[in-house]
Amino acid sequence: MNTPKCTLGNPQNTIEILQKYQFSFQKKFGQNFLIDTHVLDKIISSAEITKNDFVLEIGPGIGTMTQYLASAAREVVAVEIDKALIPILSDTLSEFDNVTVINDDVLKVDIRALAQERNNGKPIKVVANLPYYITTPIIMGLFESNVPIASITIMVQKEVADRMQVGPGTKDYGALSLAVQYYAKPYIVANVPPNCFMPRPKVASAVIRLERHTEAPVAVIDEKLMFKIIRASFNQRRKTLANGLNNSPEINLPKEIITEAIETLGKGTSIRGEVLTLQEFATLSNTISKLL
Ligand code: SAM
Repeated sequence: MNTPKCTLGNPQNTIEILQKYQFSFQKKFGQNFLIDTHVLDKIISSAEITKNDFVLEIGPGIGTMTQYLASAAREVVAVEIDKALIPILSDTLSEFDNVTVINDDVLKVDIRALAQERNNGKPIKVVANLPYYITTPIIMGLFESNVPIASITIMVQKEVADRMQVGPGTKDYGALSLAVQYYAKPYIVANVPPNCFMPRPKVASAVIRLERHTEAPVAVIDEKLMFKIIRASFNQRRKTLANGLNNSPEINLPKEIITEAIETLGKGTSIRGEVLTLQEFATLSNTISKLL
């Protein structure tokens, strides 16, 4: 059998498929399809996919990147919410025998079970041109539900990619930066302008690779408590850390414990959360755990 071809990166072929099926784009699903072969090649090479890999693709659209992934990987499972795309995917992926399409909302799919069943519970690679309206819940869902993951290589809004990799003292630094950096090492692989998509999005995009840490970079006694503290610190950016923690409905701690724990950081009691590193949030959380 001939090796199946990746045909859809070419805009003309994408237009043909869209017309053949009279497909109408659904804004609510964040549909912007890739039409640039250089970007597709870049995503595949930076995801470092080999014939040993099981890949989860989120939102295959008409199957453009899926064709590239199927050519590079051992097996691909692609989860697509829009049922209008399912017959199109059967057509565009018909020559690939290592792809399964699941018609569902990725937030409802048990990805841990999928990794167990299809990859013997070994770490999987996630690759996606994400629907931007649910970028954060998708990424956090993957990390927090302890899905075995080797890496996540994703196209996101440029601003969100920036937020994931910055440190304290910048305006983009926040709960997402800390969560991503607790679980993974992020780096931006490529910046992608709107003309690489059909239709063109209003915002610039970037491909970011998140390589899962094999060991957490900081030691935390109670991970849940640390993330509650992080969320509370950034929910009220203009307030001091102490006020943020005292006012948070998620955290129910005596005022004295909060003040005492903040003092042990040695930065004064009127500091704001946005100046703290991940290590300092871990220290703060561990001090509180011990005082309780
Ligand atoms: N991967 C394709 C590409 O690069 O051309 C399409 C990318 S498009 C930005 C996002 C895709 O995710 C769309 O096909 C959309 O229908 C799908 N999608 C949106 N929300 C989803 C969800 N909750 N679960 C699964 N797929 C979703």
